[in-house]
Amino acid sequence: MSRLIQHAVVGEQLALAFDDGVECFLPLTLLRRACPCAACQGEPDALGRVVRPVPSIGDDGFGLRKIEAVGGYALQLFWRDGHSTGIYTFDYLRRLDAAQSS
Ligand SMILES: [Zn+2]
Repeated sequence: MSRLIQHAVVGEQLALAFDDGVECFLPLTLLRRACPCAACQGEPDALGRVVRPVPSIGDDGFGLRKIEAVGGYALQLFWRDGHSTGIYTFDYLRRLDAAQSS
């Protein structure tokens, strides 16, 4: 798996650089809407159905307060409205970037 060598918020985007030469520029609004945590994306119930909750995004919810690396495979994003349970794996971030440019 490729390693993240740099990450920075540039304007309204999160810029990522990986050691295989891939660079991603992900709008913060897209990242927040794609927050992978259970509160935002829902969890499968006992029958495997995913009930999608309506995420509550507060004022400043599209601004980032802090970014922390998690175990060398993911980033945890701390949003200004206090939401911070989303763990964005590098794979997920790269897939998000590929989806928006296609
Ligand atoms: Zn979330």
